[in-house]
Amino acid sequence: MFVRAELERLTLGIRIENTATGAGPVIICDYCGERITDARDGNYEWADVTGAPGQRMAVYFLHKRCSAAHEAARGIVLDSMELTVLLPYLAHNLDLDWDEASRHAETLSAL
Ligand SMILES: [Zn+2]
Repeated sequence: MFVRAELERLTLGIRIENTATGAGPVIICDYCGERITDARDGNYEWADVTGAPGQRMAVYFLHKRCSAAHEAARGIVLDSMELTVLLPYLAHNLDLDWDEASRHAETLSAL
């Protein structure tokens, strides 16, 4: 439980945000606390200490403009990828049929 509590305290990441018509997932910058509204303006970042296969690392979500300040504040250097590629990689790693999932999401949104 310590690890989960510590990660919750340290990262904001993916949250559910209520709207006037429901609720939906959003990504919050772990440095400034603002919502990342354009995937091209954000990164997901991690500290790959060993490079060992199977190693699992916490992930940070950051505006690109906040990345350097986040690293300096924490005294860490992170690897990064733009948010534009996060969903395709997750879809692959979850064996997700993108078209089927999109149709399912549209159905749920219509409810
Ligand atoms: Zn930010």
